[in-house]
Amino acid sequence: MNKPSDAAAAHVTNFIRNAIETDLASGKYASRTWGGSPGLAATHAGAQADPAKIRTRFPPEPNGYLHFGHAKSICLNFGLARDYGGVCHMRFDDTNPEKEEQEYVDSILDAVRWLGFGWSANGTEHLYHASDYFDAMYLAAEYLVNSGHAYVDEQSAEELRATRGTLTEHGQNSAWRDRPAAESLARLREMRAGRHADGSMVLRAKIDMRSPNINLRDPAIYRIKKATHHRSGDTWCIYPMYAYAHPIEDALEQITHSICTLEFEDQRPFYDWLLERLAEGGLLLRPLPRQIEFARLNLSYVVLSKRKLIQLVNEGHVEGWDDPRMPTLVGARRRGYTPEGFRLFAERIGVSKSDSWIDYGQLEECMREHLNEVAPRRIAVLDPLKLIIDNYPEGAEEECLAPNHPQKPELGKRPVPFSRELWIEREDFMETPAKAYFRLSPPGATPAGEPRAGSRVRLRYGYVVECTGCDKDAAGRVTAVRCTYFADSKSGTPGSDGYKVKGNVHWISAKHACQCEVRLYDRLFRVPHPGAGDRDFLLELNPEAKKVLGAQLEPALKNVQPEERFQFERHGYFVADRIDSKPGAPVFNRAVTLKDIWQK
Ligand code: ATP
Ligand code: MG
Repeated sequence: MNKPSDAAAAHVTNFIRNAIETDLASGKYASRTWGGSPGLAATHAGAQADPAKIRTRFPPEPNGYLHFGHAKSICLNFGLARDYGGVCHMRFDDTNPEKEEQEYVDSILDAVRWLGFGWSANGTEHLYHASDYFDAMYLAAEYLVNSGHAYVDEQSAEELRATRGTLTEHGQNSAWRDRPAAESLARLREMRAGRHADGSMVLRAKIDMRSPNINLRDPAIYRIKKATHHRSGDTWCIYPMYAYAHPIEDALEQITHSICTLEFEDQRPFYDWLLERLAEGGLLLRPLPRQIEFARLNLSYVVLSKRKLIQLVNEGHVEGWDDPRMPTLVGARRRGYTPEGFRLFAERIGVSKSDSWIDYGQLEECMREHLNEVAPRRIAVLDPLKLIIDNYPEGAEEECLAPNHPQKPELGKRPVPFSRELWIEREDFMETPAKAYFRLSPPGATPAGEPRAGSRVRLRYGYVVECTGCDKDAAGRVTAVRCTYFADSKSGTPGSDGYKVKGNVHWISAKHACQCEVRLYDRLFRVPHPGAGDRDFLLELNPEAKKVLGAQLEPALKNVQPEERFQFERHGYFVADRIDSKPGAPVFNRAVTLKDIWQK
């Protein structure tokens, strides 16, 4: 099994790695140059050889928080650049003037850094905004018009739709298709100058209305939209369409491998057509970027669609974007998931060419593996019940030694105080023990009527005790368990292993314990494919996905820092909540249980 240190891990090869290796081996990139910043051919022509062997990019639209699917894309793009001596650009694909906000920009940068990646290389910050390329995109549009590869179409939106054809019928040429280039150019400039209304005309590429690929039927490349952009303000009232903007963004940045999800496969012919035209015209340098598609991440027990995530937040089904139940990276961070766990997950699921579902358990297992390595062990009693040792002297106390990490003895042991009254888990006592129950139970009778002695268990790292009975309140509820201890049985003392017991329970000295809020998080949905088959996904939320407890913790946990992670023995991995923890009063979130509790 791979260690989480992904840099050193042996990579499973895949079709993307093969494509990159083939391109590198063929010498295709021998002539690549880099002018120091993105730009048209003139920027890069005659410049230094590109110090980056390949260039990839992560191009989110700043219109929401990143989710687990984006983590796959980030690990893939930044990981490939790292492994092949390249650079991955952090690019905001902000060509759509609406819906974009600075809040999202900041959170996206945070998330990428948190995952362990950066965009600084060879003395340059490769942090880019597609909106900085509006001039170049417009220049390219005028070139296409002048060279007969684009025209302004004045049909209405309905006419455009009606003449586009269908999957089985080809489209029809617009009456504006063969207008003189000079006329289209004049119109385009009027569009740009704000002389026409939204939707009154569009600039279209002139390709083939009879193409079986609808994306090649003279796609719109510029539209009028009198909207204020969050960076370029009111400089523009025409904006490029995504299919037009994206290939140009890649080319200006000298991207070699433009990796995207499968739904863009049908756009690849237009991607190539456009860049070829611009290279022919001398606006772009060869070699041109190459688009490669992979299957997006589909993860069971959550939803990854932006629309559904927004609904969960806006309708109050969760407490915000960073609710630890949310499959967002801000949520994962609060929950105690780790960057190393995500990188391991991305490595392990790999990339493929066909859509499939990944079981949520695989992500949890990656988190568990990394947390097992790094999380010190601590003791927490989540559902406390008093255990009173009647023959232990009142007021006395002593220390027991608990290992900080059983697989890493070099991390040493820490003292945990022991005294007459302890907290144990309520489930570690049964008045009438079930079959094969080896924890605490008082003396009684077997079902056959034979007398049965009180059970003996080891208090982990402490003494062996024998259960003698329990106290109850008026309603019959057990309020305390009673036992006696064997003074010569303390763990680590000579002869202590002479006591053979089957049960082993954890405990905290009641007078030393610190009481804290502990939140047990679980999967957000209770079914693997929420909302499948036209069901309402909201009805499939898991009501058990958050439970809040008042737990008793070992005193060492009182003063931890936000985001410190621990294994609570027998319970799972927990993190001190980075928002709600206060000095001396941490709040703990369960990241993941010790074992997969969902496996059937
Ligand atoms: P959504 O469809 O969920 O709203 P999106 O594709 O609109 O996501 P972008 O911000 O455009 O979100 O995505 C940025 C990058 O992340 C893109 O390159 C996209 O391919 C990738 N990406 C988005 N969702 C996934 C996913 N589920 N699996 C892998 N990559 C993804
Ligand atoms: Mg998108």
